Amino acid sequence: MDTHNVVIIGGGAAGLSAAIYLGRAGLSPILLAGSPPGGQLMLTSEVENFPGQKSILGGELIDVMRKQASAFGTTIVDENVGSVELVKPVKLVKLAGGTEYKTKAVIIATGAKALWMGLPSETKLRGKGVSACATCDGFFFKNKTVAIIGGGDSALEEALTLTKFASKVYVIHRRAEFRASKIMQKRVLEHEKIEVIWNAAVEEVLGQFKVEGLKLKTPEGEKTVKLDGVFVAIGHRPDTDLFKNQIDLDQKGYVLTTAMYALQQLSNKVEQTKTHTYDVHYQTLTSLSGVFGAGDCVDHVYKQASTAAGMGVQASLDAERWIESQ
Ligand code: NAP
Repeated sequence: MDTHNVVIIGGGAAGLSAAIYLGRAGLSPILLAGSPPGGQLMLTSEVENFPGQKSILGGELIDVMRKQASAFGTTIVDENVGSVELVKPVKLVKLAGGTEYKTKAVIIATGAKALWMGLPSETKLRGKGVSACATCDGFFFKNKTVAIIGGGDSALEEALTLTKFASKVYVIHRRAEFRASKIMQKRVLEHEKIEVIWNAAVEEVLGQFKVEGLKLKTPEGEKTVKLDGVFVAIGHRPDTDLFKNQIDLDQKGYVLTTAMYALQQLSNKVEQTKTHTYDVHYQTLTSLSGVFGAGDCVDHVYKQASTAAGMGVQASLDAERWIESQ
């Protein structure tokens, strides 16, 4: 079996951007894009804030990137990875279907998934008024009434974002107290366009072909709110289970790269690791030599297609330099 230069795991904005650079550098990368491929961009409708693209469907943007990566010599495989062995100098990546790849370097770009409430009506109306990203989709709700579900920093930040477009924003939270930081709470509670509905569990997203409202369960009984859009902001989960016992992850499962490790140390959120050292010359390096991380599986702050693409590029440049140094 040949040993490849680099295997990229994940076919979203981060993985594809890394592939474009590595392909162009002549390193013939293998991109294991998963099934279905494309990451969170496949779940958004229109993208209007990816630099250079005035307006493009998320799926189309992925398609263009895939063609660009292939044109520069990337082999794209739309299958899921079943297991990895990353500790030894030659790393092994195994597809769920059994095919194995030996490689010098690995870029982990597996992304994150927005958590959903898990209601059938929510699934049915996703992309038809139900969204998990106010920055992406808020624009489509100019002068409309929308609701945001959740009580953490993401929910309150998204509620404030939505006030720039919507005429009225409900924040619907399952408890009587927010989890978010005090400053965000103050901003939300003082905002004239925002109304909080406390102690409310969402029972159903109403509407046949598009969102028309929400049915809520409150201590006072069932309540219906008329709405044009519903934004779910109850957290994200990085797709990193595959790597759990091999590279350092933070408490929530995000990949710790040198850059994230340094940031977390500055905020005293992680102890000095006893098992690994991080190399400051490679910002996207994980706790293992030759293994890099990029995109939403690393970043829980910015979470944009363009920032994921940027980090993918960083990881590709780091991997290229690292391969040369070996
Ligand atoms: P989070 O802090 O875990 O909050 C999730 C919220 O969703 C909680 O209020 C939770 O309710 C609610 N929730 C969870 N599951 C639910 C369900 N099934 N139905 C209804 N509500 C549900 O997540 P996050 O807001 O995404 O933040 C993640 C991390 O990023 C946090 O550490 C946060 O501080 C940070 N962050 C920071 C900023 C910033 O500083 N600008 C911005 C965004 C995020 P309960 O409260 O009842 O559990």
